[in-house]
Amino acid sequence: KAKELGRNNFQYFATEMNDTATDRLALLNRLRQAIPNHEFVLHYQPKINLANGDIIGAEALIRWNSAEGMVSPGSFIPLAEETGLIIPIGVWVLETACRQNRAWQLAGYAPITISVNLSSRQLARGDIVEQVEQVLAETGLEAQYLELEITESVMASDVEKSFALLTRLRLLGVKISLDDFGTGYSSLSYLKRFPVDTLKIDQSFVRDLATSQDSAAIVKAIISLGHNLNLTVLAEGIETEEQFQFLLKSACNEGQGYLMSRPVSHQHFELLLQR
Ligand code: C2E
Ligand code: MG
Ligand code: MG
Ligand code: MG
Repeated sequence: KAKELGRNNFQYFATEMNDTATDRLALLNRLRQAIPNHEFVLHYQPKINLANGDIIGAEALIRWNSAEGMVSPGSFIPLAEETGLIIPIGVWVLETACRQNRAWQLAGYAPITISVNLSSRQLARGDIVEQVEQVLAETGLEAQYLELEITESVMASDVEKSFALLTRLRLLGVKISLDDFGTGYSSLSYLKRFPVDTLKIDQSFVRDLATSQDSAAIVKAIISLGHNLNLTVLAEGIETEEQFQFLLKSACNEGQGYLMSRPVSHQHFELLLQR
């Protein structure tokens, strides 16, 4: 393309860069308005006990219903993290998810755990423990029914600080899971020390189970590592019956994925709870 454009080359790239910056700024301006305009919603994806099919939890996943259509978290969470907007957004997610879980309990459904994704920025602020305590008090949800999902990079960034914060969260009774496990660089010695309840096997390994012996070996290794450390192991991104059977046979405890259910609205999730 550069060759075709010849000496307009520079102009071409300058325009492109400009567009990108303008787009980003426009997106950021819309993102700033999203909370006051009530444009965020949470969808919920069931977590299943693989052995008996029971719904044991729900992962809250944010959706942005913007004026220009649905925007996936993959495209705005990074921007929210860079700009610090993840802080108010994170508070909204935590509050909404806890309130929803409490509402399901009050409606008489068997209690489940609600899982909320935390970005490293939220932990770095250092007041996450107070935030969580406040939200639990406000919503009346018991701590044991809240789980926080963090990624390995969160642990690795400031080990001592994360260790202290996670320990305090766990003392409250909140559960901690390690999301996208296997894709980061956490050393196994952190894992032994770290106050964690669940390992979530990243969906990339689950996706390749049928075609890659390496992925199958990695999945089995994560499951036995988790069990040896007395952790629960959950597999993300289960899409086929074959994957499900492999995981069940390998004694993986829990699972999530399109095979069981996509993330759905709270109304739809309630229908799943009724089954
Ligand atoms: P994650 O926490 O690892 O969430 C799993 C992602 O995989 C979700 O994408 C989910 O919809 C998708 N998924 C679930 N089952 C399947 C499956 O069987 N096949 C495939 N291909 N995908 C599946 P989603 O909702 O687009 O979220 C993407 C990421 O955005 C999340 O990854 C999480 O890191 C982040 N995110 C989502 N909601 C929040 C939030 O409220 N706060 C923060 N900080 N991050 C969030
Ligand atoms: Mg997650
Ligand atoms: Mg994940
Ligand atoms: Mg992820």
